[in-house]
Amino acid sequence: MSYLEKTDPEIYKAILSEVNRESDKLELIASENFVSEAVLEAAGGIMTNKYAEGYPGKRYYGGCEFVDIAENLARERAKQLFGCEHVNVQPHSGSQANMAVYFTVLNPGDKVMGLDLSHGGHLTHGHPINFSGKLYQFHTYQVDKDTEVINYDKLIEQAKEVQPKMIVAGASAYPRILDFKKFRQACDICGAYLMVDIAHIAGLVATGLHPSPVPYADFVTTTTHKTLRGPRGGMVMCKEKYAADLDRTVMPGIQGGPLMHIIAAKAVALKEALTDEFKEYQKRIVANAAALAGELKKAGYHIVSGGTDTHLFLVSFVESGLTGKKIEKALDKAGITVNKNTVPFDPQKPFITSGIRIGTPAITTRGMGLGEMKIIAGFIDEVIKKLDMKSVQEEVAKRVKTLCDKFPLYPGRK
Ligand SMILES: *Cc1c(COP(=O)(O)O)cnc(C)c1O
Repeated sequence: MSYLEKTDPEIYKAILSEVNRESDKLELIASENFVSEAVLEAAGGIMTNKYAEGYPGKRYYGGCEFVDIAENLARERAKQLFGCEHVNVQPHSGSQANMAVYFTVLNPGDKVMGLDLSHGGHLTHGHPINFSGKLYQFHTYQVDKDTEVINYDKLIEQAKEVQPKMIVAGASAYPRILDFKKFRQACDICGAYLMVDIAHIAGLVATGLHPSPVPYADFVTTTTHKTLRGPRGGMVMCKEKYAADLDRTVMPGIQGGPLMHIIAAKAVALKEALTDEFKEYQKRIVANAAALAGELKKAGYHIVSGGTDTHLFLVSFVESGLTGKKIEKALDKAGITVNKNTVPFDPQKPFITSGIRIGTPAITTRGMGLGEMKIIAGFIDEVIKKLDMKSVQEEVAKRVKTLCDKFPLYPGRK
């Protein structure tokens, strides 16, 4: 019997149910992944006990000699992986990583440009209900209606007109390669800072499957839990000249004690990310996303921008009038987890949407490949074509379970 089972059977049961959910369903949420047992061990470890305000060698608390080892390793590995001059591995989340950058170089009321949320941007890129949109004057840029990709000539024109203090590049639902050189050009025209948020594509960037923003950007922020396959958390990379200011913004500016168990787990994930296997893994993610999008396109679906260069793609139902909300629900009943997502120029509200977002990082971690993508596309098509048929959903759910059983996940935890 585990400690948890003894002391808190309710939580024990909830976790066990989550293990079963993760292993028995097809996880196609683009921002999710399955971490290694080694990452879990560090994240669940006793470094959670330690207060370590400050930075390695310069802490406000005693007894930091061992957590210092963890944080230094995380920093060194991040620098090696991304080739950045400086890194702060303490942000508790991607949102806090972004906040740290904004607070380092912007003042309330400053003008910033960010990708429209319904065109793939993130809440922290200036949405009115987020702190970013409340504190700063955000001007959104969009994708073109016909190509559904960012038009860099327009972006540059807009930058000339708006004269922002910062341009934010990066997205949560944009399937194409981002041209950081063009973003830099837009920034240089108006003297703006360039912040690139690689929360989604960090694993691809780390392995050279997506061009790196590090040479172009003043700041690069990321989460550690998406394609990078680490624990839930954030990270900021920057040029050396901003290092001291950035570190002061993170602590004491916006955070107190760092999560040392999570920083240890970040170090473990970053070590994994430096291996050849990880590079192969990222290659398979991209190949799987292309294959899955390709199969659905062949079946007649509208894939936003016509396909994908990355780990994710969007399916638009604007033409048929179906909603992402309804499709998400039907797929969930069939054991396929996706999220509804607005698509460019979506006529529906964000809680309804006309699209779904699909990503392959998690199923690729399980070992699924091109053959499985074909099968999964078939499942998705079947459920959507017979959207109101419960029996179809139940039937597909059985086949999903059989498929998942062939790719065991966390076998020791069931
Ligand atoms: C996921 C994401 C974030 C936020 O990360 P959290 O850890 O959820 O706060 C920030 N930016 C982008 C582009 C993201 O996709």
